[in-house]
Amino acid sequence: MTDENRKYFNMKIEPLLNTREMRKIQEEKLASTMRFFYDKVPFDRDRMDQAGVTPENIKSFHDLAKAIPITGQADFRKVFDQFDNDMARSYLYLFGKERMDDMYLLTTTSGTTGIPTPYPVFHKTTEAMGELFGRIGWRCHFRSGDRLAVGFGLSMHAAGTPHLLWYRRIKGLTIIPIGAEVGTERLLSFIKLFKANILSCTPSLATYLIEKSREVLGHPVKSLGIKTLMCGAEPGAGIPEVRNRLESEFGANLYDVGAGYGASCNHPEYQGMHWVADDYCHYGLVDPKTHEPVPMENGATGLAVFTPLEPESTIFMHNLRFTLNDIHQVFTEPCPCGLSGFRYKIVGRADDMLKVKGVPVYPAAIQGVINGFIPRVTGAFRIVLDVPPPRVIPPLKLKVEYGENIGEAELPVLEKEIKEKMHAINKIKPEISWLAPNTLERAVKKTQFLEKAYEKK
Ligand SMILES: [Zn+2]
Repeated sequence: MTDENRKYFNMKIEPLLNTREMRKIQEEKLASTMRFFYDKVPFDRDRMDQAGVTPENIKSFHDLAKAIPITGQADFRKVFDQFDNDMARSYLYLFGKERMDDMYLLTTTSGTTGIPTPYPVFHKTTEAMGELFGRIGWRCHFRSGDRLAVGFGLSMHAAGTPHLLWYRRIKGLTIIPIGAEVGTERLLSFIKLFKANILSCTPSLATYLIEKSREVLGHPVKSLGIKTLMCGAEPGAGIPEVRNRLESEFGANLYDVGAGYGASCNHPEYQGMHWVADDYCHYGLVDPKTHEPVPMENGATGLAVFTPLEPESTIFMHNLRFTLNDIHQVFTEPCPCGLSGFRYKIVGRADDMLKVKGVPVYPAAIQGVINGFIPRVTGAFRIVLDVPPPRVIPPLKLKVEYGENIGEAELPVLEKEIKEKMHAINKIKPEISWLAPNTLERAVKKTQFLEKAYEKK
């Protein structure tokens, strides 16, 4: 399989994604998966014991969903407490001795609050993830001769490290680990110096580079010659306005990746990310409140829940029915782009959800509307919370930066337009206070859209 023009990285497996044949493969792997977790991972064994089931009782993913509650970061934190924050003992319990003996790299989430969630990488992970990231990279048109500048955080940051480890399965690709930590000036200079033609980073950093390029390099970001932008780790790349702006300013194709094993496609209209990992990880949805399974039907929405089917070689999701706390919408009908794999769109993070008069509102959706008004606004904004989320006492308060070329006289009209669009799209009528351009701090990793005014009281 060396043909540079082939449709998929793996021509044998990828055509089977999201087919009945693939579901058979998944069901066949379930028995050994359950056995592995019961025999080798104390955390999951305890979960099965508490549910009163043995591996033999679980014959289908339906049985699994009925028997075992979902788990995630919050449960990990309980385990850390239980072991007095002794990470070595916590990891043994959570991941099992066999995998911990095989660990060779330990990374975490960006960890904005409390103890960050661990993402260990095992030697056995290398093969499996080389395959999955090969599939993802190939769909993002990584090819021989390309140079990939990694602009995700690299210091204990799970979004960056996979690039260094697993895209090497794409022959001829050179990876340049610059990292978000160096700051935008050095990032831009290194991209230019080493003639990188692919850039991976958060969408907010990519947006910031548009502003910074003229200042640092003295020319628009388009002159860098980036052909592919790979964005993830936060919503944005799936928002039409953000996407259009990044593609036209960089003169590049933008691919949205993450929140699981997937990548968006080249279709002009955003179709969500194609899930490429059916044979390695089972994907399901549950109701975010009741945790009852939600059928995988076209357009269905729910909390995404993952069960690894090659548990010895996992990354990101290491346990039975693990959730990263993202609300997804799925599309099971074939994509107009012609590529395989059902698609998922990120609606928002379950813990970011705000409720304004009972209506769920996600910061990502607000960002979409705001970014649609660039360049009349800079795109930077904050949601000011007077009480702890999710409850918001209306009106929802926004701080928004107006654009460089906007005079104060134009603000009332702009404000009216933004409010109308918010009402049409998000069903809210926000209160807007204006800030001068570049007042708000720009994040190189994850943008924090919430300003917790209640903490300052
Ligand atoms: Zn597609």
